[in-house]
Amino acid sequence: PKYQSVALIVGVTGIVGNSLAEILPLSNTPGGPWKIYGVARRPRPSWSADHPVTYVQCDVTDQQQTRDRLSKLTDVTHVFYVTWSSRPTEVENCAVNGAMLRNVLEAVIPHAPNLQHICLQTGRKHYLGSFQLLDKVRKPHETPYEEDLPRLDMPNFYYVQEDILMEEVKKKEGLTWSVHRPAVIFGFSPYSLMNIVGCLCAYAAICKHEGWKLRFPGNQLGWESLWDASDADLIAEQEIWAAVDPNVKNEAFNCSNGDLLKWKHLWKVLAEKFEVEYEEFVDGGERLTLGEMMKDKGEVWDQIVKESGLVPTKLEEIGCWWLGDLSLSYGSALDSMNKTKEFGFLGFKNSKKSFAHWIDKMKANKIFPA
Ligand code: NDP
Repeated sequence: PKYQSVALIVGVTGIVGNSLAEILPLSNTPGGPWKIYGVARRPRPSWSADHPVTYVQCDVTDQQQTRDRLSKLTDVTHVFYVTWSSRPTEVENCAVNGAMLRNVLEAVIPHAPNLQHICLQTGRKHYLGSFQLLDKVRKPHETPYEEDLPRLDMPNFYYVQEDILMEEVKKKEGLTWSVHRPAVIFGFSPYSLMNIVGCLCAYAAICKHEGWKLRFPGNQLGWESLWDASDADLIAEQEIWAAVDPNVKNEAFNCSNGDLLKWKHLWKVLAEKFEVEYEEFVDGGERLTLGEMMKDKGEVWDQIVKESGLVPTKLEEIGCWWLGDLSLSYGSALDSMNKTKEFGFLGFKNSKKSFAHWIDKMKANKIFPA
């Protein structure tokens, strides 16, 4: 056959979905040559148009639509589930994200006879607790987090998704799964619900435009603490590895870059990339959050988009201020990459280079001014 494997990427224009769409078609990608289907709700954006992907517009919260559109894809061999939906409470997150995953699996598993593996991407909140609880229950587990830590006794949509995954894979003999738990992701995608690099680029571009210095909107903890991040290409590579490696069956893996970073060091990189003067963080002053500083900047952003001829975006889509404010003030919550290395995945990224790479990539795609 022309293709050895057939991927279904659910969330193809998201932060990891976009990396999967770029990496799967490469000639040296394991399991290849790959045929690729990619699912998202909105029409295909210009920056995704060149990927050799059959684009399927579908809202996976809609059970009937998902059944109609995805059950036709009978040649799928591997599912990469890299999407989610955000609701005000974790109880609602559990309901909607559980339903989305179930809709996809119920549409695909009975209709794709050659289906072999399902990758589910969750994240470090498996160990930290949901966003709504992050401030109430600080670091309920000891770091570095290992994959087999017990679940926290609180609602978490990742647990609901894992349970649904385990239940659904039982319906087909030999079908295997893997769960991937990245930390904050460095990647490309103006369509992501959480893109920290994009959020910080939007802030830096506005500082430049307004003639401001690049102040650090976090706190001392955020400036000084050791962090780790997860490069979107690395996550995609780990997911592909787990999907096709016959020695990896039914396991959960952390996925971080394998080095440490401090936001203070990345701050310098950000300032240089946007040619704006930056300030060292000084403790004791009043904290100015991104949420406050950026709340009336929608029109400024529209002007920047126009002046620089950028791909049209809305500031509320790319400026995920709450994520920036949380990330720049949270402090260390590191994981362990021992398990994935022991299983044979030795991928890593240099986080500072990764940060710079995704800034450059978003500029090259005219999401931010060059
Ligand atoms: P993104 O928010 O980047 O992906 C969104 C993608 O899904 C887009 O293609 C979007 O396109 C599509 N999508 C959204 N809703 C639907 C829908 N109802 N039907 C069909 N497609 C839809 O996803 P992430 O990779 O960020 O998230 C995946 C998992 O990773 C989540 O569990 C998240 O919590 C976790 N995670 C994310 C981190 C991050 O920094 N981003 C960090 C750690 C974990 P469209 O809007 O057009 O439908």
